[in-house]
Amino acid sequence: MHTIQPIQPVRGTHDLIGDHKLSHLHVIQTARHIVSLYGFEEWSTPIFEETRVFSRSLGDLSDVVSKEMYSFQDREGESLTLRPEGTAAICRALVTNTLTQSLPQKVFYTGPMFRYERPQKGRYRQFHQIGAELLGAAEPLADAEVIAMGFEVLKALGIADSVTLELNTLGDTQSRDAWRKALVDYFVAHKHRLSEESLTRLEKNPLRILDSKDEGDKTLLAEAPTIEPFLTPESRIFWEELQQNLNMFGVQYVVNPYIVRGLDYYNHTAFEFVTTHLGAQGTVLAGGRYDGLVNQMGGPDVPAIGWAAGVERLSLLLKEKPQAARSVVLVPIGAPSQERVCHILQGLRAQNIRTEIGYKGSLRKRMERAGKRNASHVIFIGEDELARDVVRVKNMENGQETEVTCACLMQEAKEILSHDFE
Ligand code: ATP
Ligand code: MG
Repeated sequence: MHTIQPIQPVRGTHDLIGDHKLSHLHVIQTARHIVSLYGFEEWSTPIFEETRVFSRSLGDLSDVVSKEMYSFQDREGESLTLRPEGTAAICRALVTNTLTQSLPQKVFYTGPMFRYERPQKGRYRQFHQIGAELLGAAEPLADAEVIAMGFEVLKALGIADSVTLELNTLGDTQSRDAWRKALVDYFVAHKHRLSEESLTRLEKNPLRILDSKDEGDKTLLAEAPTIEPFLTPESRIFWEELQQNLNMFGVQYVVNPYIVRGLDYYNHTAFEFVTTHLGAQGTVLAGGRYDGLVNQMGGPDVPAIGWAAGVERLSLLLKEKPQAARSVVLVPIGAPSQERVCHILQGLRAQNIRTEIGYKGSLRKRMERAGKRNASHVIFIGEDELARDVVRVKNMENGQETEVTCACLMQEAKEILSHDFE
């Protein structure tokens, strides 16, 4: 007999099972709860879009568009892309659903994203994000509120003390143009020290050099001009107000003049919550203002600010792993009436009690399995119990067994089992 090699998941993708899935869900549910307190509503957009949704908006030279997209032609020859991020699609959806008429829109989303990257801890080819976008608010108060909301998510997850908020401004177009010019002059003067990749960026999009991961480039960046002296008076006011507002929300930050974010669409605010606990994958939640993006999707000018965070990275930072819910396990002994067994199972579930049946096997095996499932109680029903209309309830914490009538169990199981089932 020849053995068939088991098929592995695609490199950089993972099954989410057991503790991994529990942590994952915990991150998403915690975020959902926090953002709902800020009036955000959840949207879902398709997992694939026309390629131009992303190529147009993120910038041809961004890492994502230039080398990370999963693009393919469908059977009609149309170029489609598995979404590498959420913001561009949310803006597309805002326009296609004519919601630019009813602003502001406060959007939360979660789901898988796809990027062709070198897989390592905290970096995968299919990963998951939670993200929030506030569309239709131009004032720095909105930026501060959205950042504060991100921070509250991190706090609720118990990881706020492992992260630092790094903040920068990219100014308005005028400020950025002046700064870009100064940067180009600087980089041209030090051209011989730039990596090959950054030399290409120098011609097409010099700001992107600030995002370089190349060590040589990084030493050069230390002396590079910052945007600060080039800010227009309006941009300066925006920047100062943002900082004041963040203080009002009680959010601490450090200014990092080199944060430009990897995508082209940002202006004014750019920020990253970073950690030193995940090696090179230090950014956990990041975002900024993107006032021009909705317009690029064929809509009107809609000012907007948002962030996204990697669910896997957040899960890795959780200090306490969420526990699986506990069950009550019903163990039929011998061959009691199946009708009665079903009746009890459904009766308990109807009282919101997580109830499972201890399927076949020796009693010892079934008790072992109940233990593995971390059952709070085991309920036995055999022929003798059936005849007397009772069950035996064993508390798995203290080993105590009590006899209870079926009628009682069907009416007040919660009190009888007096255990935390939530
Ligand atoms: P990095 O600098 O780590 O590549 P990025 O700037 O590409 O991050 P964004 O596009 O801003 O990341 O995405 C927001 C968040 O999504 C990141 O901060 C990170 O937590 C998560 N993320 C991005 N790419 C991946 C990936 N390949 N695997 C897992 N999480 C990711
Ligand atoms: Mg990246």
